[in-house]
Amino acid sequence: MTSLDRAGLADLLDGKLPWQQLKGVMSGTKDPARFDLYLQVLQERASFEDMILLPLAEHLFVVARNGQRVVICDCGYEFGALDQNWKHAARILVRDSEALLEEIYDTYHRCDPNWMELREYFCPGCLTQLAVEAVPPGYPPLFDMLPDLDTLYAEFLGQPLEDADPDWFQDRTNDLTSEWLKEAAGV
Ligand SMILES: [Zn+2]
Repeated sequence: MTSLDRAGLADLLDGKLPWQQLKGVMSGTKDPARFDLYLQVLQERASFEDMILLPLAEHLFVVARNGQRVVICDCGYEFGALDQNWKHAARILVRDSEALLEEIYDTYHRCDPNWMELREYFCPGCLTQLAVEAVPPGYPPLFDMLPDLDTLYAEFLGQPLEDADPDWFQDRTNDLTSEWLKEAAGV
């Protein structure tokens, strides 16, 4: 097992960990205390006060805020409840034409926009690009991950969350889009 102390984890996050040490971390048995230490390092660096429950992706975190589990950007912008796809609250650029694809790919390396489009998701607060997906036109935004935090904390970390409830682990994205449909229909 390759243990990483706080400084080593900080170097890992900053991409400064020497390769030999990084290789040992990647291929070795995981240090049981690493997740806690990792959260501590992230929390110290955060520009927000909310308790980090899980880093969701680069720049994105699940935090406890006002009794809810929400997804936020590292700038603090809140996308909404964890159980609804955060992408629905993002700013989106859809590259669905030859002209838009041509900005980043040459003629022979880009997709046919009749078959596939690229969607780029940005934080409305700081305009950081947070995700890119390639999907057929009309396909719903991909819900990359709905983590089961209660199981993670209780069964893997041995530290059950105080507000544990199976109700957290439900995909409610359709509730959101259903509301939008009702609004659009004037119901
Ligand atoms: Zn942001």
